[in-house]
Amino acid sequence: MGRKQKLRQERKIKNKNQTSAVVVTTTAEATVEAASEGRLPEAAMTALVEELDDMFPKSDECVQATMDTQIINGNEYYKLNNIEQYVLVKQGAIEHGCVHSMLIIDTTLRKRSTTTEGHYNHMYIHLALPWLLEGAIRGSVRCIMILIGEYYLDRAEPNRNADVLIDYWGKILNNTDTRLPNLSHNLAALSVLKHRLGRTCIICSKTDTKILTLKQCIGCSFYCYCSETCQITHWEEHNHRGECKQLRILNKYHKPYAKAIRDAAIRGDIHPALEKLQYKLGLTRPLEDYQELIDYNTHDGKLINPKDYVVAREDGTVWVGSIPSSPIGTS
Ligand SMILES: [Zn+2]
Ligand SMILES: [Zn+2]
Repeated sequence: MGRKQKLRQERKIKNKNQTSAVVVTTTAEATVEAASEGRLPEAAMTALVEELDDMFPKSDECVQATMDTQIINGNEYYKLNNIEQYVLVKQGAIEHGCVHSMLIIDTTLRKRSTTTEGHYNHMYIHLALPWLLEGAIRGSVRCIMILIGEYYLDRAEPNRNADVLIDYWGKILNNTDTRLPNLSHNLAALSVLKHRLGRTCIICSKTDTKILTLKQCIGCSFYCYCSETCQITHWEEHNHRGECKQLRILNKYHKPYAKAIRDAAIRGDIHPALEKLQYKLGLTRPLEDYQELIDYNTHDGKLINPKDYVVAREDGTVWVGSIPSSPIGTS
């Protein structure tokens, strides 16, 4: 048996032995955290988020995956374990574009291999990300909030920039319903946003002076640089190249159609712009492209930090796709 095959089999066995099911209060934490500074009281905000996402149809697979629960030690658990749920909701997401399934894919992947319920495992965030992005582009407010709160807003790793994407999705939230928190505004306390608002170089913190005028990034107009050296550092070492290009894709292929795509998804239809967007974001990339990331958490044979794989590749596309080779997504 080859090394890869052996590893794969070991992983299968590991997954099989895993029994922990997901707590029913799946995505509430991130939602409440992201919304806590909104204009509505917390309970009203949670209700609003639920109301908005409940407009999306729920696939039979998703209903089946979450139907039966049991109480163990006072906590409510699903009867199906993570793997059983995962298989069902993945089918619901792929075959019906069900955003509720996409949310559960995210939680099952991130809770994989954890012993304490409620604690997320960041080993698999790069695999869960494409599904949140699928939900976000369809207009699920919960998907957008988790995308921002759990993926892009990483205070522990300030060098890994995704502030432009936070800003983008924050505005999409607000456009969906003005009662939703203006995340972009609330996040102004973040050091990076302070840099933008205060016009300081994102790398070295220099400010405008009589002899120095900072230049904005041409692609996103979001960050300021004092010099080409700082710009190159930001683009190369902090991967702003990928972030900036993903913003460009979203601005061109998502923003103008966001409402139409969401309306269609709520009706259970697929808007033609959605398929083009999926293709442009790389969500429909062939599986072989990123099989190694899925199977071994390695890239070119090297172990990865999954957090490096949640923003974008250099061309703005995702590292890991969701639904490979959509038949129409070729233009
Ligand atoms: Zn600088
Ligand atoms: Zn930029």
